[in-house]
Amino acid sequence: MSASAFQRCIHPHCAATVDLGDTSFQCPKCGGLLDVAYDWNRLPVPKSLKHFESKWANRNNPLDFSGVWRFRELFPFAADDQILTIGEGQTLCQKADAVGQFAGMKPGCLYLQYEGMNPSGSFKDNGMTAAFTHALSVGARRAACASTGNTSASLAIYCAASQQMRAVIFIGSGKISYGKLSQALEHGALTLQIAGDFDDALRRVQEVSKQLGIYLVNSINPFRLEGQKSIMFRMLEALNWEVPDWVVVPGGNLGNTSAFGNAFIQLLELGLITKAPRIAVINAAGADTFYQLYEKNGVRWNGGAPDGRKIGVYMKYLDDADKRADTLASAIEINRPVNLPKALRALDRCGGVVREVTDGEMLDAKAKIGAGGLGCEPASATTVAAVLKLVREGVIDPGERVVCILTAHLLKDPTATVAYHSSDPKMFEEILGKRGVRRASYANKAVQVPNQLDAIVQAIEVYA
Ligand SMILES: *Cc1c(COP(=O)(O)O)cnc(C)c1O
Ligand SMILES: [Zn+2]
Repeated sequence: MSASAFQRCIHPHCAATVDLGDTSFQCPKCGGLLDVAYDWNRLPVPKSLKHFESKWANRNNPLDFSGVWRFRELFPFAADDQILTIGEGQTLCQKADAVGQFAGMKPGCLYLQYEGMNPSGSFKDNGMTAAFTHALSVGARRAACASTGNTSASLAIYCAASQQMRAVIFIGSGKISYGKLSQALEHGALTLQIAGDFDDALRRVQEVSKQLGIYLVNSINPFRLEGQKSIMFRMLEALNWEVPDWVVVPGGNLGNTSAFGNAFIQLLELGLITKAPRIAVINAAGADTFYQLYEKNGVRWNGGAPDGRKIGVYMKYLDDADKRADTLASAIEINRPVNLPKALRALDRCGGVVREVTDGEMLDAKAKIGAGGLGCEPASATTVAAVLKLVREGVIDPGERVVCILTAHLLKDPTATVAYHSSDPKMFEEILGKRGVRRASYANKAVQVPNQLDAIVQAIEVYA
């Protein structure tokens, strides 16, 4: 199988190829990022996407049951017996009219894809199962990542499930929620708390992995992105293979953005769809490098040669001003997105836009998503907050079909949620006010009642 799948530099003018089993994840010629690529002349191509429809019903085969691997013919880099699945990707893409109404959409037009339903509670499992499978195939014994939390939780759970690999996790100090940290610890990962932020941790994990030959599962790893393509395949399946007008996704390291772009580029090339959706990538205002570069500085893919000077100037400004990413949405609190060039390519092919939302806007949207019946963490809610904006701007038409990706579960990061709904002004100020959040427009405050039957009955009659 190995000859029909390989790695290839993303820059068309370079296009250097690398062996499938190589784990440096960097182009040896130009230092660029790599894609996993396939020789489709030597591989079976499904005739239509309907081919995948009934696979999940084959529950006896864990690979067909997995919401990732049942699409494995679209990322055929591993033999079936090398694949490690823990049942990831059983997620929902469903209509959400109440949330749609909040965002200014017409009924039947807004969909939420709830990736919080994954085994570790975030979309990261879609990619981790693929990276992990690659790691096993090259005989790795240790796997490492730097993480704002969800990647480490996912790595930890796959290492524990494999019973043959050790997870090494780098986190910035004080920047990880208890929900996510508890997963890393509980699943037995070696957890290194670096005195620095996420960008520091990412730099270190790359150095250390090189020195010790540890398998790296950060989103620079192209195999993760192969698995994350399945998020879009499931979305299309839920929409009866009709391509929506928009996919809206939070942007951190821009792995999802890149993977989604790759999914649509591939489906177009294979003739399995006839148009790509537009992609809207949403930054938090406190970590908005992609927004600044794409919307304010006009940086584009430019046929594989993005304007390195403009990017360099902006990165230097971040350094010189010692500007640190700062948002309640810890999952996207990233100022140096690793997959920037791949994301530019995705937006080029899909006609993308980038927007930023404040922490206050995202928390209001999050409360509305919760009231609509799906619990997500702050980063996920940037999507709905941005749809509201894009509709007001006239970029999204209220009658278009829009899918927002809810990247992780509410219980990942309960602190912001409790503070938002809190009736304690000190707690609100401590956690939210300090970050510039002025009010919680949709707070559902707990009601204080004396320990008396009459008072309790009266409170219920008044409030419910
Ligand atoms: C990792 C993560 C993101 C950011 O995804 P990227 O692929 O890095 O852009 C967004 N939301 C949540 C909950 C995450 O865990
Ligand atoms: Zn190259």
